Amino acid sequence: MEKLLKEYSNPGKIGASLPDEKTNSPENLLPTELLRKKELDIPEVSEPEVVRHYTKLSVMNHHVDKDFYPLGSCTMKYNPKINDKLAALPGFAEIHPEQPVETVQGALRLMYELQQYLKEITGMPAITLQPAAGSHGELTGTMIIQKYHQEKGNHKKYILIPDSAHGTNPSSASCVDYEVVSVNSNQKGCIDIEDLKEKLNDGVAGMMITNPNTLGLFEEDIEKINTLIHKYDGIVYMDGANLNALFGIAKAADMGFDIVHMNLHKTFSTPHGGGGPGSGPIGVVEKLAPYLPVPRVVKNNNTYSLSTDHPDSIGRMLSYYGHFAVIVRAYVYISMLGAEGLQRVSRNAVLNANYLRKKLSDVYEIPFNRTCMHEFVASGQKHKNEYGVKALDIAKRMLDYGVHAPTVYFPLVVKEALMIEPTETESLDNLDNFIKIMKKIDQEAEEHPELLKDAPYDTPVRRLDELKANKELNVRW
Ligand SMILES: *Cc1c(COP(=O)(O)O)cnc(C)c1O
Repeated sequence: MEKLLKEYSNPGKIGASLPDEKTNSPENLLPTELLRKKELDIPEVSEPEVVRHYTKLSVMNHHVDKDFYPLGSCTMKYNPKINDKLAALPGFAEIHPEQPVETVQGALRLMYELQQYLKEITGMPAITLQPAAGSHGELTGTMIIQKYHQEKGNHKKYILIPDSAHGTNPSSASCVDYEVVSVNSNQKGCIDIEDLKEKLNDGVAGMMITNPNTLGLFEEDIEKINTLIHKYDGIVYMDGANLNALFGIAKAADMGFDIVHMNLHKTFSTPHGGGGPGSGPIGVVEKLAPYLPVPRVVKNNNTYSLSTDHPDSIGRMLSYYGHFAVIVRAYVYISMLGAEGLQRVSRNAVLNANYLRKKLSDVYEIPFNRTCMHEFVASGQKHKNEYGVKALDIAKRMLDYGVHAPTVYFPLVVKEALMIEPTETESLDNLDNFIKIMKKIDQEAEEHPELLKDAPYDTPVRRLDELKANKELNVRW
């Protein structure tokens, strides 16, 4: 095990030097009352110790710059380094949200133009970049749904959500006090329209639909479904976190959706997975535009400003205007690829997923085995029945072969689910290598099931008690 930085500490060691210690010392720069009374308890280490420590840590963890990361729904694709380079330009990285707008015209222009791009991509006439994550976009969207019904004097109580939805959907709806009503999936893995009709009534405020859904399938009856919801003055919300299956090909507005959120950190390539920062802009149809958060970036005679004068707005969703560095990365990503490039991204994401689905269906059970979008869900049920090996064991064994595990036990509509999303940035060689690994694991499951139950063997830590880690969270040193 790698030691903690604190354990490297030796009194007197120092890893940084100030240019002129006398004039730059805190005693000379700060008023006496602001000076710390006690010594600061931080590790005393040299620069090489710090660099080596973090380099060692960075390779203990799996990450997308290291190897394949097929974590379904999370879109762990390779993120071009140019995004980071441009987001770090001093004109972007060193500005402050309280600066006068005349001094940040470039930043505002970038935000304005990104909104224009996202309008084009979704077909929605109005966008906000404020939400700090996909789930925060959902919260913003459900607050807008609530506001819309309040303004119209509608009495609404329920939000319909398919049983294959991402878990954040019901949680966002509950946050604004809607009751969640679950709609069943049919045999094809799509929304069961008959069940939907039974649950639809005047109390329904709207419906949240992940499209493509968490089985990686496109909702084929989406127009019919959206028309049904609109008949009851319901608002249909599209969870568009997985837009890398669709952009450049299909637009949320054309499918009849009223609100859509995007995950800039997934689809538009920002390193993520460590808990943030993210960015979850939403787009809305004209009738919902007045309710979008403030402030809004507006353009008048080639000058950009922030306007707050929107009396019907739901207000601020964040102290400032969104996670700006993620916004810059998304802008760079879209500008680099252009319309045709984005379309190619979608096509390759879909192609890669279907290639894996088809090749793996020889040895793994795939319950909804038809053309998928950017991901598909395999099942470990057969392996469990025949060899006593669970989806979790298969996933853990994958770590020994140097690839990240897929999302497991989700969506709930598939038993022993293994949700696999290769993403568009993987080469044919990488996909073939993954297929080889999966076939090897299948063979191991048959011949040495015990081997899988104790996996992983080659990782810095072996199998952890994940339940205990959740229930008795203690991250203190
Ligand atoms: C990732 C994801 C979300 C949540 O996005 P966060 O940025 O993690 O809050 C919602 N829906 C789907 C389908 C997702 O894949």
